[in-house]
Amino acid sequence: MVAIARASAPALRQTTAAASPTLREGSKGAAVVTLQNKLKAAGFNPGAADGSFGPKTEAAVKAFQRARGLAADGIVGPKTWSALNATASAGGSGPTLRLGAKGEPVRALQQRLNVLGFNSGTADGSFGPKTEAAVKAFQQSRGLAADGVVGPKTWDKLGIKVQGNVSTGNTGSGGRVVTGYVNGSPRKISLAAIPNGKEMRSDAAAAFNRMYAAAKSAGITLKVNSGFRSMAEQQALYRAYQNGTGNLAAKPGYSNHQGGIAVDINVGGTGTATYRWLANNAKNFGFVRTVPSEPWHWEFRP
Ligand SMILES: [Zn+2]
Repeated sequence: MVAIARASAPALRQTTAAASPTLREGSKGAAVVTLQNKLKAAGFNPGAADGSFGPKTEAAVKAFQRARGLAADGIVGPKTWSALNATASAGGSGPTLRLGAKGEPVRALQQRLNVLGFNSGTADGSFGPKTEAAVKAFQQSRGLAADGVVGPKTWDKLGIKVQGNVSTGNTGSGGRVVTGYVNGSPRKISLAAIPNGKEMRSDAAAAFNRMYAAAKSAGITLKVNSGFRSMAEQQALYRAYQNGTGNLAAKPGYSNHQGGIAVDINVGGTGTATYRWLANNAKNFGFVRTVPSEPWHWEFRP
């Protein structure tokens, strides 16, 4: 038994070496076809798998090496082969993520991007502009549409399987455009989502979602009772106020909720942990109190 093992081990090593010879521009043959196929499987584009190591294959090798933290010399030696073999059967999946998303899947995305050489900043679970830029660069390098949105194709190229809940925050531009009111004048504003099914003007929503995440990590969950209000909603509230069946409400057209910058947060009075957290931290996110009698009403006035 021992004798056989000794005899066959060197033979095996020889076979492996022959299948993974050092390749560089100008190389030709079956090993180049293997290389090209592995590059494709890892999400890089070496051109046709024709067994001829040309400039396009070299560019793909360099991109692959950069992405794996190897010296990007375009020469396929043992380290590059081993990285190719480790990632050839990538494939991945996860929830769709975009700017404003938060949660564990975002953290996993950021860690993966950083490992692959695309700097997404600190893996903090918050999909901000730096993560978006890293996603776009990654997509570009893999021949995908560089839209900054992590959908099935991007997950597949990332090569990790991720599960978990995501809160979809602000989408920046591209939110729902509605007619809002500021001081009685109509104007078009773009809305984005905040928690509890509410919306705010996109920039205010982005700031609110950052504040929400910060509060969350301090153990405080901000519950939103009201965000943007349409004209019809404000009219109904105003009627209730006039009837004596509702809280004080501004004249339709004049509530800052109709401009998308006001948010009512369920603080439960000024003695609560939630209120104290807001009093100490909201200004760092651009939110201030503007109505002395309403501790729940905060406005985005950065
Ligand atoms: Zn309010």
